Amino acid sequence: MQILVVDDSALVRDLVASIVTAAGYPRPLLARDAREAKAHIKRSVVDLILMDILLPGVDGLQLTRQIRRHLKDEQWIPIIFLTIKDDAEYLAAAIDAGGDDYLVKPVNQVVLLAKVHAMSRISQMKAALDETNLQLSRLTQIDALTNVVNRRGFDESLEHSWRLHRRNDQELCLLFLDIDDFKTYNDSYGHPQGDRCLRQVSELFKSCLRNDSDLLARYGGEEFVIVLPNTTLRAAEKLAQSILLRLSQEQIEHKRSHVVPYITASIGISTTRDRATTAQQLLSQADRSLYKAKSAGRNQLCCYEDIEQVMSDSEL
Ligand code: GH3
Ligand code: MG
Ligand code: MG
Repeated sequence: MQILVVDDSALVRDLVASIVTAAGYPRPLLARDAREAKAHIKRSVVDLILMDILLPGVDGLQLTRQIRRHLKDEQWIPIIFLTIKDDAEYLAAAIDAGGDDYLVKPVNQVVLLAKVHAMSRISQMKAALDETNLQLSRLTQIDALTNVVNRRGFDESLEHSWRLHRRNDQELCLLFLDIDDFKTYNDSYGHPQGDRCLRQVSELFKSCLRNDSDLLARYGGEEFVIVLPNTTLRAAEKLAQSILLRLSQEQIEHKRSHVVPYITASIGISTTRDRATTAQQLLSQADRSLYKAKSAGRNQLCCYEDIEQVMSDSEL
């Protein structure tokens, strides 16, 4: 457990450090003021903070508020105040600022270690709870039929990839895939077979992904999306072509399809290279391209860039 000691007195810092190290904890990080404390928190994983309230500049209460605001609920670091003032009002203000416990100086070795021990126990329970919550939230993001990420997971993931691509100035592409004439498939072969077909098709899509960062999700019904981080439009187009080819090789019988007598899909592609300035725009551009691919006869792909080209040509 990594402890951070924040105190402007070198004497207190060294004393606290020697008490916790003698008790078997790793050597704590030391900070003289708020600035040094924040630098440690930014750089390292801190599990517990022992903090003086009276600090030069930003005091312990202000620093605690800043830490709580900055880390929000994502990361809770227990904070125990060390102070010379032993009065109830002061204690209440310290807890109100976001502190978890309070210790009066001069520090009693036994009391200090007991409080550090109690906090580390709570901290471990919190970590276990966070892990469980994370697993639960992952489960709520999986589509029960196809076992791929569902709409909710996709929305979150797209936002995340979008922010990342912005920060790293990379190209991000999106594929919107829709199975052709699927209503007729259900009508011909029945709904349970329709479900099996959806599972088979999603497996096929998944097998076409190139690496772990490509994400396949079921958008809803017989519609799927693939997020392609750090991918050029040409590479996205190639992937879409390989999906269409694989479907034609798979030959999943669909006798009454108006396209060809096997399952096909239409694919719309958009890229951040175009004028998509939000994740939602990227999605709606892929959707518009899909609509184009459908109206051009299905079983094909269409890039938003090409629609844009046609539109600007017709403006000339
Ligand atoms: P298009 O080529 O224009 O995409 O035609 P389509 O028939 O595929 O499109 P439409 O939106 O008219 O119909 C979609 C069908 O997908 C209707 C619906 O019954 C079927 N579908 C949606 N979700 C499921 C599902 O979970 N299981 C099964 N079996 N069918 C589904
Ligand atoms: Mg559809
Ligand atoms: Mg369809």
